[in-house]
Amino acid sequence: MPELPEVETTVRETAPHINGRRITGVALPWEGIVREPALAEFRSGLIGETVTGITRRGKYIFWHLSGGKVLNLHLKMSGSLLVKPSSAEAGKFTRAIFYFDNDTAIHFRDPRKFGVIRLLDGPEKVTGRLGPEPLEGGFTRKFLERSLARRKAPIKAVILDQNFIAGIGSMYADEALFAAGINPQRRPGSLTPEEVKRLHRAIRQVLRSGIEHMGASTSTYFRPGGEAGFAHHHFKVAHRRGKPCPVCDTPLEYIKLRGRGTCFCPRCQPLK
Ligand SMILES: [Zn+2]
Repeated sequence: MPELPEVETTVRETAPHINGRRITGVALPWEGIVREPALAEFRSGLIGETVTGITRRGKYIFWHLSGGKVLNLHLKMSGSLLVKPSSAEAGKFTRAIFYFDNDTAIHFRDPRKFGVIRLLDGPEKVTGRLGPEPLEGGFTRKFLERSLARRKAPIKAVILDQNFIAGIGSMYADEALFAAGINPQRRPGSLTPEEVKRLHRAIRQVLRSGIEHMGASTSTYFRPGGEAGFAHHHFKVAHRRGKPCPVCDTPLEYIKLRGRGTCFCPRCQPLK
């Protein structure tokens, strides 16, 4: 599932192809991907618009348009944005295609069809309740300490909550908790100040590493050029069920935590 590093990579690697370019057409091999507005309004609102900027907030992508609206793309479980020549045909899993005035098209590929596209007056409608960006100044150790104290859910569930911190999903949560030596089932209130400090540092470090390695291609995620990312080659626990812990060789355990597959080392991350 694309998380902050995969979405950030998508933004960075699509922007040079489409920023400043005019949208000349839209094709929707699967119309259900457009959440709002109605299709006729969606098409007429997009065609002829120039993309004036591309930004990310949490796991959301925004194409800012010359007329003042924004196109919001959410990759959800299995989406990727692929840069292709205008002549490229839709693949089996292509749900939407945006054509530009420079012989470039962006294909929204999404095998599982959870992806969503919206044409909005502004980003606030989807970002209004999001927590801070973990790599920006608002995500401080003090913020983490204060906010965790009020939470009752297991620590992994809390850091997956987009209204708590934006952009983290199951893979990078597992990696951050391992790096911090914290069991994913721990109650947030039981963390010591030292553990909160380690978690704060670990969250930023695993996300930065994910971006540096252009995201993790564990299942359906591809970079816009169609290549895989490299981040999963650096994972220590995520998607490594049953393999030896890279620190202590104990087989990594796998549990379902609130429905989310979770890998951790029972020795390096003891449940105190
Ligand atoms: Zn271990």
